[in-house]
Amino acid sequence: RRAKLLLGVRDDLKLPLSAVAVLKERYLLRDDHGRVAESTGEMMDRVARHVAQAEEAWSPGSAQRWVEAFSRSLRRLEFLPNSPTLMNAGTSLGLLSGCVVLPLEDSLVSIFGTLGHAALLHQAGAGTGYSFSRLRPRGDAVASTGGAASGPVSFLSVFDAAADVLAQGGRRRGASMAVLDVSHPDIVDFVQAKAAGGLEHFNVSVAVSDRFMRAVLRGTGHRLVNPRTGKAVARIDATELFDRICRAAWRSGDPGLLFLDRINQANPLPSSGRIEATNPCGEVPLLPYESCNLASLNLARFISGGQVDFERLRAAVWLAVRFLDDVIDVSRYPIRELERPAHDSRKVGLGVMGLAELLAVLGIPYDSEPAIRLAGRVLAVIEKEAHQASAELAAQRGPFPLYQHSRYAGQGTRPLRNAQLTSIAPTGTISLIAGTTSGIEPMFALSYVRHILGRQLPEVNPHFERLARDRGFWSDQLRAELDRTGMVRQIPHVPPDVRTAFVTALEIPPEWHLKMQAAVQRHVDAAVAKTINLPEQATAADIRAIYLAAWQARVKGITVYRYGARPGQVLTLADPG
Ligand code: ADP
Repeated sequence: RRAKLLLGVRDDLKLPLSAVAVLKERYLLRDDHGRVAESTGEMMDRVARHVAQAEEAWSPGSAQRWVEAFSRSLRRLEFLPNSPTLMNAGTSLGLLSGCVVLPLEDSLVSIFGTLGHAALLHQAGAGTGYSFSRLRPRGDAVASTGGAASGPVSFLSVFDAAADVLAQGGRRRGASMAVLDVSHPDIVDFVQAKAAGGLEHFNVSVAVSDRFMRAVLRGTGHRLVNPRTGKAVARIDATELFDRICRAAWRSGDPGLLFLDRINQANPLPSSGRIEATNPCGEVPLLPYESCNLASLNLARFISGGQVDFERLRAAVWLAVRFLDDVIDVSRYPIRELERPAHDSRKVGLGVMGLAELLAVLGIPYDSEPAIRLAGRVLAVIEKEAHQASAELAAQRGPFPLYQHSRYAGQGTRPLRNAQLTSIAPTGTISLIAGTTSGIEPMFALSYVRHILGRQLPEVNPHFERLARDRGFWSDQLRAELDRTGMVRQIPHVPPDVRTAFVTALEIPPEWHLKMQAAVQRHVDAAVAKTINLPEQATAADIRAIYLAAWQARVKGITVYRYGARPGQVLTLADPG
């Protein structure tokens, strides 16, 4: 409490210290003198007021009712919208969407036009994603100058440099996704681009086809094709390329894989084009100029009597879907090109956070069949209710304008208001605000140091500490032990049920991480942001195995992270000993 007073923030929501620190730095509105001008609860009211304005268009005089409903739920931390909504609602920036995909055609006008658009979007706090696959390869002909093209990787560096400059004046560091098709002639350079250093603002993913993955398994050849001419320029060994990808991912965590065939099988609007890219963390595949508004339900808030409270969860899903649909109408798009696509498909992404906390509180180990089953069941309920809520909105407000051209048309189901409803975001910051575990990730550790805004905040998992105190096994010795390893599985005087229920990311075998991702993906429209954590001593062969298993499990993308692979990770163990 004293530390919070020192921050000088009125925290009527009683949030964790690290949450208040982040809110103060970047989210809470300030007055003309730069002083924080709202409390944490008032921030939620501001968001609710702004978003509920959309209700007036459908039912004049109804907004106030929805201000109250949204505000109550936000203040209870039952669900939270993505950061740009919290930051920008009711301000002059006005962009509320977390993610945008922008086009890159093979021309300087397109590349630098998009670079300018990206600058405006980053300024407003949104993340951007691009496919670089259409750009001609390095060394290819440039007709106008008679010179040679510099290739996608060189332009990628330009985008990264721009993000770097903007980060200094913007609200967030700026995150982007770069995708390159596995058949692009510059694929090897791209794969090694991040491991070579730099590109700090980018996650990179290789877009792989089923055909490529089969070639890897069979050990056959793979053609590289110049996107400008459509002609094959080389034939390489698929397995060798795949191994390069895995070795690079071992070194730096990048590239991840994007399974574009899988993504396009689920594309709700195939007639609008083939999807080639996602937002920065991979959870939202989008067409160029599409954007997506995200919100995440805090599962830890839906427990009663040692069980998931499905009734309350259902009600929250309906409220959150309505909220997200309203966000589309009140969001202001900093570039004109975003407006039409946002309204034409009305894509939103409702997801979850706090899954690991829910499981721990219910005493279910993350790496167990009951956990996988429960997660699947919870997401199935959310998916079903979200679609019903959207159908109900469509009955009142009309289906999304491209509905007749979507894969839903003619299926005999009720029309939907939104072409896409669910998506699992990483919830990096909003889970911190809500004081719960992020997305569907397991707990990182039970004791760790959070490196945030240049500060180092030691934290102990509060649920674990409370439980340990309640059950009488909390001690200084336990705390010291936790600080040393971050884990309890190997501490003998902790009761066995607690040891298994409070399992942490690095103790969970990678295949269980993937099982959870796949189980959740089966009930999610868009995709799932999930990192498969690997211990420091994992090998490139381990990564190869998990990448292949991911393709077979029919997830839409895969990202791995080997502990310690990158300097400056957000969480580290307290005392790595
Ligand atoms: P939050 O918790 O802040 O709402 P998430 O961690 O859930 O954000 O990320 C959701 C999406 O928001 C990401 O996939 C990305 O599109 C965007 N995003 C996240 N962090 C950043 C950032 N630093 N800059 C720009 N966009 C970001």
